[in-house]
Amino acid sequence: MISTLRHIVQRVSQANTVEQAMAELVQLTRAAMHTDCCSLYLVESGTLLLSATEGLSAEAVGHSRLAWGEGIVGLVAEREEPINLADAPKHKAFKLLPEVREEAYRSFLAVPVIHRSEALGVLVVQQKIARQFSEEEESFLVTLASQLAPQLRERALTRAQDPQSLIFPGQVAAEGIAIAPARLARPKLDLVQPEIAADDPEKEWHRIEQALLVTSEELAELGGRLSDEVASELGILFDCYQALLSDPQLRQSLQASVADGWQAETAVSKVVCQYVGQFESMSDEYFRERAADIRELGQRLLDQLARPGLASSAPKQPVILVAKEITAPMLAEIPRDKLAGIISFKGGVNSHAAILARAMGLPALVAVEGVRIEELAEKTLVVDGLEGRLWIEPTDEVVKAFRSLERGLEARSERFRKQLARPCLSADHQPVTLLLNAGLTSEERVLSKPGINGIGLYRTEALFMAFNQFPTEQQQERVYRRLLNGAEGKVVTIRTLDVGGDKPLPYLPIREDNPFLGWRGVRLSLDHPDLFLSQIRALLRAADGLDNLKIMVPMVSRLDEIQSCRRLLEQAVVELTEELGRPVTAPPMGIMVEVPAALFQLGQWWQWMDFASVGSNDLTQYLLAVDRNNAQVSASFDSFHPAVVAALDQIARQSEGRELGLCGELAGELPGALMLLALGYRQLSMNTQSLGAIHYLVENLDLSTLPPLRQQLLSQPDGESVRRILMRYLESLGVPELIPGSAR
Ligand code: PEP
Ligand code: MG
Repeated sequence: MISTLRHIVQRVSQANTVEQAMAELVQLTRAAMHTDCCSLYLVESGTLLLSATEGLSAEAVGHSRLAWGEGIVGLVAEREEPINLADAPKHKAFKLLPEVREEAYRSFLAVPVIHRSEALGVLVVQQKIARQFSEEEESFLVTLASQLAPQLRERALTRAQDPQSLIFPGQVAAEGIAIAPARLARPKLDLVQPEIAADDPEKEWHRIEQALLVTSEELAELGGRLSDEVASELGILFDCYQALLSDPQLRQSLQASVADGWQAETAVSKVVCQYVGQFESMSDEYFRERAADIRELGQRLLDQLARPGLASSAPKQPVILVAKEITAPMLAEIPRDKLAGIISFKGGVNSHAAILARAMGLPALVAVEGVRIEELAEKTLVVDGLEGRLWIEPTDEVVKAFRSLERGLEARSERFRKQLARPCLSADHQPVTLLLNAGLTSEERVLSKPGINGIGLYRTEALFMAFNQFPTEQQQERVYRRLLNGAEGKVVTIRTLDVGGDKPLPYLPIREDNPFLGWRGVRLSLDHPDLFLSQIRALLRAADGLDNLKIMVPMVSRLDEIQSCRRLLEQAVVELTEELGRPVTAPPMGIMVEVPAALFQLGQWWQWMDFASVGSNDLTQYLLAVDRNNAQVSASFDSFHPAVVAALDQIARQSEGRELGLCGELAGELPGALMLLALGYRQLSMNTQSLGAIHYLVENLDLSTLPPLRQQLLSQPDGESVRRILMRYLESLGVPELIPGSAR
C-alpha cells in the first residue's frame, strides 16, 4: 500500500498542470482501489465543484457543484470526516445530480481533503455493488488525501497568483497568517548626529534629564499596555530599559559629554553609539541583538530632544508592522487588536521581537530579503508564517486562498484548544502527563487547562540573560514566585541555570574551543556555589507555602555532581529555616538525562534523586556527536537514529517504578511522541503549540497495543526506517490531523 501511495503522490506531483494532476489522481486511485468510480470535488467560491472524475460524466467536470453541507459530499466537507456507506442512495443526505450520472453506483466512500485544517475538497470512490468499504480501504484513502493536500493547495495558490504580485522569502519567527496593510514603524532620527557645540552645559544637561524622564514615563506606559498580554519576560525587558535609563554610568557619560561642550543631541548620539558598538562587537548573537534595544532607547531620547511630547497615533484598522529591525517598544506602541503581524528586515528568531511575537500569537517574519522597506509603504501584505514568505499586493484570489487557510488554522487551534479542556487519557483510559516547556516566552497562561499537568521544564537562562549582571536573590524570587503562584497548584519544574555551550552570559564571558563540551550547566553551577545557592535560595523562598516546586539540574555526568547539588540544597534549607524561623522543606530534586554517561549509571543514581527528565536535544547531540546548532550537519541530527531509540529505551528500563519524563523537542512531534509512548514514557513536556496535537494523539491511541511497536522500533537499522514505521502507524490510525504534514 505504501508503495502505491508513493507512486500516486509522485505521479500527481510530476503533472504539468493542475488539471492533469487531478486527472492522474482520480485515474490512479480508481485503479489502485479497484473501484468503478473516483471523483474529486474541490472547494471553489464556498461550494464543492466536481473537478475531476473517472466514472461520472466528463461533461459535468467544472460545472456540477454542491453547496457546503449539501448531499453526502457536502456533508463530508462540513463534518471534516469520512463517510463510508454500503448503499448511498438510502442515506437521507443523498442528492442525485442528474448531470453527473451516478445512478448506477451504490457503495460510496468519501474523505475530506484537508491541509493545515483548511478543507480543500472531498475525494470519493464509488462502486456499483452494495458493499461497505473495508477499514484498510478507508485508511488508504484518508492517507492519500492527506498526502496530496499540500500539493493541491500549492497548485491552487499558484493558479490564483497573478504575475504582478510579488513574493519574498523570510524566516518564520512566529507561525500563522496575517493579511493587512503595511504600517512602517515611526521613522527614527538617525542615531549618528552632527557634532554641534553648545555653550551652556547646564541647559543641555537639563534637556537630557527631561528627555530621560519623559522617555522613562513613556516606556512605563507602553510596558503597562502590554503586560496583560505577555507576562514575565516583557516585564523584565521593560525593567531593563528603565534600568538602563537610570544607569549611573550612562548618566555620568552623558553629563561628561555636555561638560565637554557638546549639545544635548550630540552627547546622546556619541554615548549611545559607543554602547551600541560594544554590544555589536560581542560574539554571541543574542547580545548582538540586544544592541537593537539600546539603539531604540537612544533614538527615543533623540526624538524627545527634537520633538518633545510627540505622540504616535494608533491605527484605526489592524496593520502589519514593518521595520528594519522590530523592537519591543515598537510593538507596544500599537494596541494588540490593531496589530495583525510583523515584518522585520533584520534580526533573528532569537530577537526579543520574535520572542514577543510568539508570546502574543502574532505571525512574524524576520530577515526578509529582496525588497526595500520603502516599497512596502501603504501596500497590502500577506505574512505567510507557515512557508516563510511575504506577499506584496496579492490578488483577490490569493487573499481568498490565504483567508481560507487562516480560517483553517483558527479552526485547528480552536479544536486543539478544546482538546485541552479534558484530562489527557488514552483510548484505553490510561493517563498520560502532559507538561509545558516554558521560560522563553510567557505561555504559562495555558496552565489552567485540565489537559495540562504543569510545567515540565522552565528554562531559567532567558531570565539571567535579561539582566546586565547576575540577578539578585530577591529579583529571582519575584519571578519564580509569580510563576509558582500562577500555576494554580500545578507542578512547576524549574531548571537551574544552564548557561554555557551556545548560551553564554554577557557578564560571564567564557572563551572555549568546544563550548558544548565545556563549562556548561551543573559544572558551572558547582564551580560557583555562591551563584547556585542564590538561585536555590530564591527558589525555596518563592515556593514557601506553595508546595508545587521541583528543581531540576542540567548536564549531569557524574554521581558526585548530584550529591553536591543535594548538599547545597540541604544547606539552603537549613539557612532559610534559621532565617525565617520556621521549617522549610526541600522540594523534590531531579536531573536532566542528556549526557550519554547517564545511560550506564542511571540505576545507581536513582537513590539520589526524586525524578529525571530526558533532554533529547542534547542526548541526541552527544550520542551522535552532532552539533545541534550547526546547519551543515543538521541532516545527521536525528532523534530517530537507532542508537537514540536504544538509549531512550534503556533509560526507560532503568527507571521502572521511578518518575521519568522527557522534555526535548521530540516530545512535541507526532512521530516522536508516538515512539516515546511505545517505549513506555508517560510524562511528556513540550511547547504550547504542540500540546493540543499530542493530547489528540494520546486520545486516539490504545496504549496497551503498543509493545509490538516498541519491538519493531528497536530492531531497525537506521533512522529512516524508524521514522517510516512511525509514520505508517500514524497513518493506520485513520485520523487526518495525526498525519504529519496535514496536522501542522
Ligand atoms: C534538551 O537538551 O533536550 C533540553 C530540553 O534542554 P535544552 O534544549 O535547553 O538544552
Ligand atoms: Mg539540554
